[in-house]
Amino acid sequence: MTLVKESNGLRYYQFEEFAKLGVKHGFFTRLGGVSPVPFHSLNMATTVGDSNENVLENLNRMFQVFNLDLSTRYDGWQVHSSTTICVKSSRDVRTRTIRGDALLTDNPDVTLVMRFGDCVPVILMDPIFRVAGIYHAGWKGTVKKIGKNVVENMVKVYGCNPQNIIAGIGPSIGPDHFVVQQDVSDQFIKAFPKDLDKIQIRAGDEVRYNLWEANELTLSDAGVKTIKRMDICTVCHKDEWFSHRGDHGKTGRFGVLISMAGME
Ligand SMILES: [Zn+2]
Repeated sequence: MTLVKESNGLRYYQFEEFAKLGVKHGFFTRLGGVSPVPFHSLNMATTVGDSNENVLENLNRMFQVFNLDLSTRYDGWQVHSSTTICVKSSRDVRTRTIRGDALLTDNPDVTLVMRFGDCVPVILMDPIFRVAGIYHAGWKGTVKKIGKNVVENMVKVYGCNPQNIIAGIGPSIGPDHFVVQQDVSDQFIKAFPKDLDKIQIRAGDEVRYNLWEANELTLSDAGVKTIKRMDICTVCHKDEWFSHRGDHGKTGRFGVLISMAGME
């Protein structure tokens, strides 16, 4: 179940299944930040034209919701890959970030953060081995099956059993809005030959895909049993979520955070 919470003017969404475990996490709406139009207002990305000062203040506000110190953060350089980074400690912000689209950690002193604006955000947790993660799956990451790579790393690096992993798929461009051209469609056909009827929608000349379903299928094939979805389309709900397509490229990125700090 999806929970909607508010704190100091910030509104964020949670999965009840993660909240019950005491995992600090949130899919943060665009509300409650300091950035001006068109990044209004809780923008988490400096790469879109917003100032470093605004983004830093927005990050601070997001961390304060959970009483987390900003120095605990680890944020990747998202490049639409299927690369997973296993994070041992928080990132020294004076150094360059590593390219990757999935972050995993077993360290409760690390807060994982990623940025989204139509791509699919997925959070993961293994409550037995205490491993938390986030990954970023746009259409490229989805056809590269980044979710499979993440689960394989949880098994190989941390000894997790996929059956214990819980996953939560957050807001992104929905199947009602994700229209693609033939070249992109071809890649989905190649990646999901047996499940095409579950993820492809044809209406007249238009071909659309369901990224939530595609990512759920990938996780399920990797052995994950508990997969929750918000099924919120960012393009339909631009008032709450940054949407690259919905705002025609001039917009911000919303933050997703997960931390095991303070878990019993
Ligand atoms: Zn929509």
